[in-house]
Amino acid sequence: MKAIIIGGGIGGIISALTLTHQGIDVELYERADGNPEIGSAVQFTANVTNIFQRIGSLDVVKACGSPVEVRHMREWNTGTIISTNRLGDTIAERELGSPYLVFQRSELLDRLGELLPAGVARYGMRCVNVEQDQDGVRAVFENGHVAQGDVLIGADGIRSTVRRLVFGEVEPVFSGKVAYRGLIPQDELPDFDSYKWTANAWPAPGQFLLQNFAGRACINLSLYRSGQRLEDLDTGHRTAVVSTEEVVAFVKDWEPSAVAWLSKSREFLRWPLFDIEPLKTWTEGRVALLGDAAHATLPFIGQGAGQGAEDASALADALALTPSDPVGALKLYEEFRLPRASRVQLESRARSNYMMLRDPFAINQRNLQWREASKAITGYFGNSVDHWILNYDVSKAFRDHVALKSGNTAA
Ligand SMILES: Cc1cc2nc3c(=O)[nH]c(=O)nc-3n(C[C@H](O)[C@H](O)[C@H](O)COP(=O)(O)OP(=O)(O)OC[C@H]3O[C@@H](n4cnc5c(N)ncnc54)[C@H](O)[C@@H]3O)c2cc1C
Repeated sequence: MKAIIIGGGIGGIISALTLTHQGIDVELYERADGNPEIGSAVQFTANVTNIFQRIGSLDVVKACGSPVEVRHMREWNTGTIISTNRLGDTIAERELGSPYLVFQRSELLDRLGELLPAGVARYGMRCVNVEQDQDGVRAVFENGHVAQGDVLIGADGIRSTVRRLVFGEVEPVFSGKVAYRGLIPQDELPDFDSYKWTANAWPAPGQFLLQNFAGRACINLSLYRSGQRLEDLDTGHRTAVVSTEEVVAFVKDWEPSAVAWLSKSREFLRWPLFDIEPLKTWTEGRVALLGDAAHATLPFIGQGAGQGAEDASALADALALTPSDPVGALKLYEEFRLPRASRVQLESRARSNYMMLRDPFAINQRNLQWREASKAITGYFGNSVDHWILNYDVSKAFRDHVALKSGNTAA
């Protein structure tokens, strides 16, 4: 069994790791000349870190992840704490069996890439065509190279070429929200150690600021703004570098510590936020979509890459289960994964509005709900409405799904 993966982002690399772990041959092709990730942060919750635990790479992941212990939600204009989420390494491990970690994206991808056998990942390879028949599937690259395999995984992101070639055009949907992301390296913060490992968030009318970590030696800042129009952005849907002055001006009447954090980043990356409508299918014969290509998701519950990791786990388990029937294995993967990933997409849309409410009455209700929840229960589950996302073992859920199906078939 040989799998060809198109795309070497977080989804593609984790898929290469889970497939390799199952003894499946992999070739991964990325169009960029090297690691395609930029700076800024990505979080993995317990439903994702338990996948690394299973494939034996949690130590590597832990070594570059920040074990954020506590996140305070604060009033944007006073800094008063609204609620406290206990997230951390030890708390998550105790309650969910696997840690919560935040990474610097490019560092995470470097470390994961190093776990792959030599020669698996090939860079500077842009896929331009996909062909399949009953004997196999071929990917054709811009430079004329042709890769041949039993299955092909399109892990090539929200504007996926594989998806367009095999499933037709799917237009990404602009959310009306824009993220401004900045980084402050440890050596620019003499008091860095005093922040360990506490994050802060300020939900404001139409805006949301998160100060978190990006790996063990960087602080990440993300300011989200709603009610935005693409026509007002000089670079349209593309990301762009913008000045600190521009971003600080958005928060000029906020409480001083929020303004101070934003002032510390040298520049920001402006990131218009898109997702796609949930798809009806992710597989066609020997071709399957994975990660953002299948279910690009807004970042408001921090699960986009995590859902790609769950895909990667289930895909490898499905192919290992029926190696002689790759087409059936891909269908099983789709049937198992599509409902959950679609639910996460829709929940992230809903949450994006909830976190940036404008109506004062609705804001009071929401903050009261957060405050009461954090008073009532302590620990990771304290004020989390996301049990169904976090308290989830994709490998076990896949086995249960298969058992239920075979029970049903037998009945
Ligand atoms: C502001 C923001 C914050 C986020 N925070 C989180 C978070 O905290 N936690 C989380 O889980 N998720 C988060 N996400 C979502 C997460 O970043 C994405 O879901 C994830 O990076 C998608 O990974 P992917 O590998 O599917 O796609 P991508 O990262 O887009 O990778 C696709 C790769 O395919 C390559 N490619 C494209 N076309 C071709 C081709 N024709 N041939 C070869 N290669 C090709 C690209 O160069 C790219 O490297 C966030 C997203 C945003 C925008």
